[in-house]
Amino acid sequence: MMNQNDSKSVMTVLGPVAVDAIGITDAHNHLWINPVHGADPTSPVLNDFDSVRMELQDYLSAGGSAILDCQPEGCGRDGRKLRKLSETTGVAIICCTGFHRRKYYAPSSATWMFSEEDATRLYIKGLTVSLNETDSFENPIKAGFIKIALEADWSENREDLLDATGTAAAETGAALEIHTEKGAYAEEVVNYFSKLGVKPGQIVICHIDKRPDFSLHKSLAEAGVLLEYDTFFRPKYEPEKYVWPLVENMISAGLSGSIAFATDMAEKEMYKYPSGGPGLASLPGELKQRLVKMGVALPEIDDILGKNILRSLSGLIQ
Ligand SMILES: [Zn+2]
Repeated sequence: MMNQNDSKSVMTVLGPVAVDAIGITDAHNHLWINPVHGADPTSPVLNDFDSVRMELQDYLSAGGSAILDCQPEGCGRDGRKLRKLSETTGVAIICCTGFHRRKYYAPSSATWMFSEEDATRLYIKGLTVSLNETDSFENPIKAGFIKIALEADWSENREDLLDATGTAAAETGAALEIHTEKGAYAEEVVNYFSKLGVKPGQIVICHIDKRPDFSLHKSLAEAGVLLEYDTFFRPKYEPEKYVWPLVENMISAGLSGSIAFATDMAEKEMYKYPSGGPGLASLPGELKQRLVKMGVALPEIDDILGKNILRSLSGLIQ
């Protein structure tokens, strides 16, 4: 077990692992989603163990090492499956507590009934003691970060639950991955959480490449937050026109320490097995190759493809 002074490890579903022992890490993905009764019918489901296992085996063969699973409790997370997948394939999996967009839950879900105090307690327990689904385990699984989601309109957010995650992040040092609707409220949310005692280095703004405004990215990077990009295989967001030039600009500006790549493949169609999509292996494969071809220095590639997100995760007190 790591002690409180050792910040150089991350909490995986198999326990703490030294950051130095982990290489390429996908900063935002989905490996398992149980069907959620009462959720929006378009909610993604990923529950074919063998397909996910094959994806992870390919990921490892292509040079991948770890993946963040961004499905919190109540909307399909199953830490037991994630542990089994990690044990079977050797890929380090880091799971989360927190909450996703409201449409991924039944309207009556416990997630939306919690008081701020109960929610805070649940998040801290998930990070420091056990996920609910492993309470009875001798060796329970702990979450390695907090994932939350902002809605497109701020008035639809539950500020009490945002505050609960802010308190949990401030108390535990956990990273806070924030889903944004195409980058909405990116600037505001950094201030919001700073007021709750969350440090910029704990904050990861997700899907921000859907708002590819370089000056925004530069100022967020300079504020010390990590920016997660994942539109590389989404034609709708015209990656050649937007995300790749943005990546070039960020690297040229000396900001490679502030971006983290991911492929966010919640939809089955994105998986190679069985859909023939790019699959999880595309991050250590195609995306890394592209950075090499662009002439990006290897230490910067290591940052973008793992070290940056691992640094954010390693603040969690274990
Ligand atoms: Zn996601």
